[in-house]
Amino acid sequence: MEIETFPDYLPRLPSDQPGMYNGHGFREEDVMGVWLEGKTLAEKIKEEVRQEVALVKESKGAVPGLVGILVGENRSSQVYLKSKEKACQSLGIWSEIVTFPAGTSASELRAKIDELNKNDRIDGILVQLPLPAGLNPHEVIAWIDPDKDVDGIHPYSLGLLLENQPGLRTCTPQGVIELLKFYQIPIAGKDVVVIGRSLIVGKPLAAMLTNENGTVTVCHSKTKDLAQVAARADLLVAAMGKAAFVGPEFVKPGAVVVDVGINSVSDKARVEEFFGQDPKRQKDLQEKGYTLMGDVDPRLIDKAGYLTPVPGGVGLLTIAMLMKNTLEAFKRRRKL
Ligand code: NDP
Repeated sequence: MEIETFPDYLPRLPSDQPGMYNGHGFREEDVMGVWLEGKTLAEKIKEEVRQEVALVKESKGAVPGLVGILVGENRSSQVYLKSKEKACQSLGIWSEIVTFPAGTSASELRAKIDELNKNDRIDGILVQLPLPAGLNPHEVIAWIDPDKDVDGIHPYSLGLLLENQPGLRTCTPQGVIELLKFYQIPIAGKDVVVIGRSLIVGKPLAAMLTNENGTVTVCHSKTKDLAQVAARADLLVAAMGKAAFVGPEFVKPGAVVVDVGINSVSDKARVEEFFGQDPKRQKDLQEKGYTLMGDVDPRLIDKAGYLTPVPGGVGLLTIAMLMKNTLEAFKRRRKL
């Protein structure tokens, strides 16, 4: 993505002064402790989608359509799908949520997916994960027409990613790449460590970072000396689902740290350990009984060069990328 303007509140990377670089490409005094917020970029992407949807509506008399499939009663899944539907509505994308009870059989679900595959009005189909036990997510995702795989997790989409060919990309990892590009964070030639190897975040992100010419190490629960491996990274990504697991020993001073994790923490003492008496966190605890935090100790802002906040960082980009993918699927299917 081309950068049109660089946000005023961030220091420019001193690309005209190569002699002053430190070992990982940045001059530390210029970049220490910068939060990489995701809202500006997420809003920009959504605004671009909104404008393009309005244009195709006018010129083609059609708008992109997205269907979310929810099986069972998982509360978080309901909330995620609702927020995706809301985003569609705000951008002019047609959307619908199809719900099934937890005991739905594979053949019933397949019949619905087949029907949606054939429905020309539908450009994107997403099956909200996790599925109830008894339904194999790999099997279910593979039933989706790859042209409508707006989550980018169909084996065909993942194959295109490995081949570095154009295709629908997994939303959260693509959001990370777009965020790094937005902030002009270099990837090529950098030592990159990704902690986490799930199919929805870690693995596709590692492939994307490799495609961007990073030198990528993927870590997981069996990695030896995890902190030492992570501390070699110029660019560290945490996608594990463990609140504040990444502490100072994981981070090289001045490194770029991307925190994908979203964890709810309800222990007051723990929240105060990380956030002190921060009024927003205290309000979360009082009103919701928990606050959201990432896999990275937020106090590492004093050690990292850049750090994405949670909430307000990568998470905001996931839905923006889903909207972009839905428009992309619409255009590809109509060869626009
Ligand atoms: P998964 O549980 O599917 O994968 C977690 C990964 O982290 C696994 O590969 C696991 O290793 C690894 N891991 C877990 N514990 C450790 C450990 N102690 N040391 C090293 N590696 C470890 O999670 P997801 O990938 O789905 O999600 C990761 C995080 O990202 C979660 O907090 C989730 O909420 C968040 N998320 C955020 C999104 C967003 O929009 N920002 C979207 C999707 C997820 P192993 O493979 O060996 O088990």
